[in-house]
Amino acid sequence: MRIAIKGTGQLARMMALAGWPMGFSFAFFGSKQENTSCIEGLGDIVFLEDHADVSSLYEALGKPDVITVEKEEVDTALLRQLQGHCPIYPDPDVIDICRHRGREKNWINEQGIATANYHVTANREQITDALNSFTSSAILKTCSGGYDGYNQWRLKTEQDIQDLDDSVCVQDCVMEEMVNFSTEVSVIAARNSKGEVAVYPVTENYHRRGTLLISEAPAPGLTEEQEAEAQRMISTLLNASGYVGVLAMECFVTEQGLIVNELAPRVHNSGHWTMNAGIASQFENHLRAITGMPLGSTTPAKNGGMVNLLGVDVTAQDALAENAYLHLYNKSVKPNRKMGHVNLQAEDSESLKQQLNALAAQIYGDDI
Ligand code: ATP
Ligand code: MG
Ligand code: MG
Repeated sequence: MRIAIKGTGQLARMMALAGWPMGFSFAFFGSKQENTSCIEGLGDIVFLEDHADVSSLYEALGKPDVITVEKEEVDTALLRQLQGHCPIYPDPDVIDICRHRGREKNWINEQGIATANYHVTANREQITDALNSFTSSAILKTCSGGYDGYNQWRLKTEQDIQDLDDSVCVQDCVMEEMVNFSTEVSVIAARNSKGEVAVYPVTENYHRRGTLLISEAPAPGLTEEQEAEAQRMISTLLNASGYVGVLAMECFVTEQGLIVNELAPRVHNSGHWTMNAGIASQFENHLRAITGMPLGSTTPAKNGGMVNLLGVDVTAQDALAENAYLHLYNKSVKPNRKMGHVNLQAEDSESLKQQLNALAAQIYGDDI
């Protein structure tokens, strides 16, 4: 089978690396401005600028059997046109929900699942009204285009709102009430076209300056009830949308239960530990789901974790303990850039946490 991926970054790379052993071939497409170093050698690269019509694009991609995406910021109108040629998973309608924070939060609430309190805003007055309606401070996020904590502003007072640029206030944004959480977790699951669902253990995530640094699974602080609740929540979202592929759900753990922060209609950085946990990785399960295969196991025998390599040039000699696996994305170093990650496994949560922290300290020193 041939699979085309919209996107040329590390997630596209790891999907292709998971698909090669299964006999799949790949094509990647994106604009000429995108860096393609991550996917070099893994399949054909097609530039949108070279194809005026969608039939010619489909042809250039090598007439794939299925098309998928590595991120939600995509031209869904183009994907809908491509849908005339082959299936697109996840469906562009779901991607449209997930690439707009306002639509996404509405939809999650409609499924009976909690998010932070929020208002969609498009001017300074609406931002002020929203802040006044909250009992705590707020965080303003643009509805589209934000990642790694970019395009968001923490707002406590009316003065903070006055200090915002006009250009920010007039964008479609969500004003979210700050959630008082103990930890941040994510839930990753796959659903195939037969409606089978496989959920990975909930992952606990630690961010550094807005970017994911460390993940560990199963999330050590969760009760069995919370773990089951997380599985129910993501299954509800997958089934309600008839989702096909891998979906990631970021949550806050609060005294009131789990609250969804955001969804990613794709494989997710907090699921990279699944690559070396002796199970079907999130990349493999995404490919199995979109090609109509049965899903692989998501229940690891050991605890698994990951340390992201952010803006650092780590080599195998630096990183490879006997239970560590190095994944590099073939990028040149830039500050804070996701260069790769190291996966670790351990018999228990305590020992995993200790090893993850030791590795992070070895790589970043005090800067964690
Ligand atoms: P990502 O790289 O995960 O896509 P993003 O830019 O889309 O990030 P969010 O995940 O929405 O941004 O927010 C970034 C971080 O800011 C969260 O992981 C969390 O630590 C904090 N945060 C976001 N919203 C809230 C909130 N309502 N209450 C408290 N903290 C929040
Ligand atoms: Mg996000
Ligand atoms: Mg996030």
